Amino acid sequence: MTTGIDIYDRPMTLSEKVKAKAILFSDFDGTITLQDSNDHMTHELGFGKAKRLEVNNKILAGDINFREGFREMLDSIHAPFDECVQFLLDTIELDSGFIETHRWCTENNIPVVVVSSGMKPIILALLKKLVGEKECQNIEIIANDVKINDDGTWDIVYRHEDSGFGHDKSRSLKPYSSLPKGERPILFYCGDGVSDLSAARETDLLFAKRGKDLIKFCERENIKYTQFDSFKDILNGVKAIVSGEKNIKDFVENKN
Ligand SMILES: [Mg+2]
Repeated sequence: MTTGIDIYDRPMTLSEKVKAKAILFSDFDGTITLQDSNDHMTHELGFGKAKRLEVNNKILAGDINFREGFREMLDSIHAPFDECVQFLLDTIELDSGFIETHRWCTENNIPVVVVSSGMKPIILALLKKLVGEKECQNIEIIANDVKINDDGTWDIVYRHEDSGFGHDKSRSLKPYSSLPKGERPILFYCGDGVSDLSAARETDLLFAKRGKDLIKFCERENIKYTQFDSFKDILNGVKAIVSGEKNIKDFVENKN
């Protein structure tokens, strides 16, 4: 085994990834980080928590879709983009087990892929600060983008403007989930929110954050999940499954 972080300084290509034993996909906000950066930004720099919850209820009730509601939230933030990033760098914290999990995955040739409904420049800035500039170079980020306008205002640029999710995570996972069984690596997904549901459906095991609504949806939609409190739990699970010591079914909590 090599010593780790220096193994590669870029994300694996698709063909390299499909040869791996497993792939660890993860949501970013509230999963890799303790707080949701977009909610936090909206609370402190935008129209505030009460209005954000109102928009959220409209999304849950199906009156508007996530793409529309999320844009409404972000449109309420008038600070320049650089200031928003700095604000988040000063306040957002990393899950206590993520660095160790990422290091172990790197040493064992298991790619870590962030799949997020947030914005790539924010995620990259936070990973550089919280994980390390050099260490995070091999983490692939699949997320929405940002356009900075000439007058200094900024807008989110969705990956899938035609999807109600803005970024349809299941579409981003299709190149892996559509591989023939037997050829495809074990696909793990870690998440905490309802947008993670469609992604989880494409993978073999979902690590769902304890205490979140996602669990209720998994029960209802019959998506295999196991709960986690921190990435320490995720690392233990991934190690046990990849080594063959345990099977995925040993972890599944909704056994019907
Ligand atoms: Mg989340």
